[in-house]
Amino acid sequence: MVDANRAQRLVILGTGGTIAGRASQAGDNVGYVAGQVSVADLVAAVPALAGLPLTVEQVAQVDSKDMGLPVWQALVRQLSVHLNDPTVPAVVVTHGTDTLEETAFVLQQVLQPRKPVVLTCAMRPASALAPDGPQNISDAVAVARQATGGGVVVVCAGQVHSARDVAKVHTYQLNAFDSGDAGPLACVEEGEVRSFRPWGTAPDQTSSDVLTRFMAADVLPRVELVTSHADADGSVVRALLAQAAPSRPLRGIVVAATGNGTVHQSLTEALNEARAGGVRVVLASRCARGRVVPHAGLAFDHSQGLSPVKARLALALELLAS
Ligand code: ASP
Repeated sequence: MVDANRAQRLVILGTGGTIAGRASQAGDNVGYVAGQVSVADLVAAVPALAGLPLTVEQVAQVDSKDMGLPVWQALVRQLSVHLNDPTVPAVVVTHGTDTLEETAFVLQQVLQPRKPVVLTCAMRPASALAPDGPQNISDAVAVARQATGGGVVVVCAGQVHSARDVAKVHTYQLNAFDSGDAGPLACVEEGEVRSFRPWGTAPDQTSSDVLTRFMAADVLPRVELVTSHADADGSVVRALLAQAAPSRPLRGIVVAATGNGTVHQSLTEALNEARAGGVRVVLASRCARGRVVPHAGLAFDHSQGLSPVKARLALALELLAS
């Protein structure tokens, strides 16, 4: 028999980031080291969480600029354990802001969770005079407790963003995330979640296969990101083709293209050579808003509205599953 408290046991997983950062001086919001304070101490510093049935686990302690497959696999492993526990309604994950959108996207693609997985972060270290982490954790827990649908979301500065749309758009301000044309899913006001549109994703059929291969992988299929810009040429692409190691061959290139998927003609020539050699080429836009609108003149496949960094992950996961 499950008791009422255990039925509401939330799990909070820590991975590091500025939210767990510490500076030598309390007034310093930028000169700190990320990933220093334990997630247990971060949670203990949030008065609103006192007395709630919580399980708190440190999965990693990294600056998220260094995020990669090993930490993602550790996260997926712990998330799978907890999400499969009927007494756990949702999981919160603390994370750095720099690659938060990439982790959110990977977790959504790989796990496609039926329960809420709520990622949160901070722009100021835990040692700041006015840290934003405690409020963000409190808001993330509110979202985890009130969300009616599953899926991975990001909570920061009182806003809830979808894994697909969210992007870090500011280097310093507390409200550093934006969902572009889609806008945020919801906001959190004094602990109450106010939704702007229905959210919560239905899992599709691909997840178990992707999940198995993702967990078994030593590395993800190699997909590189190149940018098209004024005065571009094909030298970066040709260098990639020339040095592709047999142990980890170049499988894909995502282009952060100009505007609506346009690419400098010199770079296009090199990309055509890559494609002729079996490398997948996908166009995303380097514009902060909008998508590559499909049209007959596009030289390569487009990213279905994904940003360059997410298109890179989507292609790597697709290649992993193929
Ligand atoms: N470099 C930090 C990180 O991503 C930045 C942050 O969390 O705001 O872990």
